[in-house]
Amino acid sequence: MSSRETKADVILIGAGIMSATLGTLLKELVPEWEITVFEKLANAGEESSNEWNNAGTGHAALCELNYTVEQPDGSVDISKAIKINEQFQVSMQFWSYLVNSKLIKNPQDFIMPLPHMSMVQGDKNVTFLKKRFEALSNNPLFQGMEFSDDSAKLMEWIPLVMQDRPLNEAIAATKIDSGTDVNFGALTNMLFDHLKTKNVDINFKHSVDNMKRTSDGSWELKVRNVDSGSVERHTAKFVFIGGGGGSLHLLQKSGIPEGKNIGGFPVSGIFMVCNNPEVVAQHHAKVYGKAKVGAPPMSVPHLDTRFIDNKKSLLFGPFAGFSPKFLKTGSMLDLVTSVKPSNVLTMLAAGAKEMSLTKYLIQQVMLSKEQRMEELREFIPNAKLEDWDLVVAGQRVQVIKDTPEGKGTLQFGTEVITAADGSIAALLGASPGASTAVHVMLEVMKKCFPQQIEEWEPKIKEMIPSYGVSLMENPELLQEIHTSTAETLGLSQKELVYS
Ligand SMILES: Cc1cc2nc3c(=O)[nH]c(=O)nc-3n(C[C@H](O)[C@H](O)[C@H](O)COP(=O)(O)OP(=O)(O)OC[C@H]3O[C@@H](n4cnc5c(N)ncnc54)[C@H](O)[C@@H]3O)c2cc1C
Repeated sequence: MSSRETKADVILIGAGIMSATLGTLLKELVPEWEITVFEKLANAGEESSNEWNNAGTGHAALCELNYTVEQPDGSVDISKAIKINEQFQVSMQFWSYLVNSKLIKNPQDFIMPLPHMSMVQGDKNVTFLKKRFEALSNNPLFQGMEFSDDSAKLMEWIPLVMQDRPLNEAIAATKIDSGTDVNFGALTNMLFDHLKTKNVDINFKHSVDNMKRTSDGSWELKVRNVDSGSVERHTAKFVFIGGGGGSLHLLQKSGIPEGKNIGGFPVSGIFMVCNNPEVVAQHHAKVYGKAKVGAPPMSVPHLDTRFIDNKKSLLFGPFAGFSPKFLKTGSMLDLVTSVKPSNVLTMLAAGAKEMSLTKYLIQQVMLSKEQRMEELREFIPNAKLEDWDLVVAGQRVQVIKDTPEGKGTLQFGTEVITAADGSIAALLGASPGASTAVHVMLEVMKKCFPQQIEEWEPKIKEMIPSYGVSLMENPELLQEIHTSTAETLGLSQKELVYS
């Protein structure tokens, strides 16, 4: 069987938001570089980046309570919230650059303004929310945040949540209007459509099965054409493993020492979706609650307005669950085959430590639709079974690694692993994920192209004016960026009519 062979400067494995972002950044910086993409599915953005596989929250730490932690002395540590907000501002600037340069036509096809809210019940939680509000609202990054524990005000903000609610319990919320709903699937597709016009060689239905180092330090990939079964060999000087849940296996195949002692733990997700226009019309926000005791941070319940394909709907969840697959389209053997001699001790240590998490996830999988409705009714007291359907969300593969906190520690963030010589990089982990794709890909570039990054800096600053600068410490620049990105991305026009 004839076998195709190519040589490129860069190979991107996977056609999700991460490869889309890295490819677009590189094409702006070095248009002459040859880039090839291999994606095993038939289209871009079909796994975690797909709009129905994630919650579409533009994570800027405006509403996610797990990014602000109460300290033993009662104060609230907001350092993680600041970091995530700053990273989201980087994405907003790059997306604005793409719109201004006409690389993306209609920003409202992928980003919509939507208030971000946190809501809690019970005296203890209300006290925490107030303290959190006081800590954040003094910071320029969180300007415009409001707090209320007044039921009349809350009725105005979140009527669906407040209707028919017994008012003998303390309840409070914060609201900030500069939040967003992002359709990462649409954005991924827009970026790949653009890359196609820049002669990027995009190969769908091509699965990367193996890789090895060549004598000149490049990487040779063994790629299988999913339709014909033929095996191809493709080489590149730099490889980005953007396989989402598939990245860990590919990293292990690379054999780089930096990929050892790392494991993955899959967590599946289920959302409930409401398409009843009467119910949908009564809600206009992303409302994040507090995770239940014992629940992992990725299962914080939230009730979100979503804008997908010009249609407004409501999403509630995610309910976490256990499945051994690393991708939605993955194999039941993914978890077992990810255990290698190099990470078995790390995995065993995590297994012993995380028994309660596994138990929690299995309990979540067993929930009936009526039991899920009970959780939804904590948000919408009069939610009706017939208005809500279940949708299976994407898989998250949480990284397990050895840290100063101990062997086999479960991580909830995003991790970039690079070879010492910068010839290969892999992206592992999930949250805050897609929202911070631009920041994370800039990190990959800094680590992997240390010789070029200085030369690229002026162009990077043109695309991302705050590059290398703390916005929190530069409120004037922050103000300028807020105003210009809101205008370019159409986030100041609040009265867009959606069915
Ligand atoms: C339930 C859930 C909710 C989330 N909510 C949010 C949110 O609200 N906001 C947010 O910012 N982020 C959210 N995330 C995280 C976000 O979705 C991910 O961080 C992001 O989509 C990851 O993008 P990616 O490009 O790395 O992976 P993916 O989009 O999964 O793309 C990886 C691609 O690689 C392909 N691939 C894998 N292996 C191979 C191989 N061997 N050969 C060829 N191709 C391969 C896959 O088919 C896939 O298309 C959520 C995730 C989940 C699961």
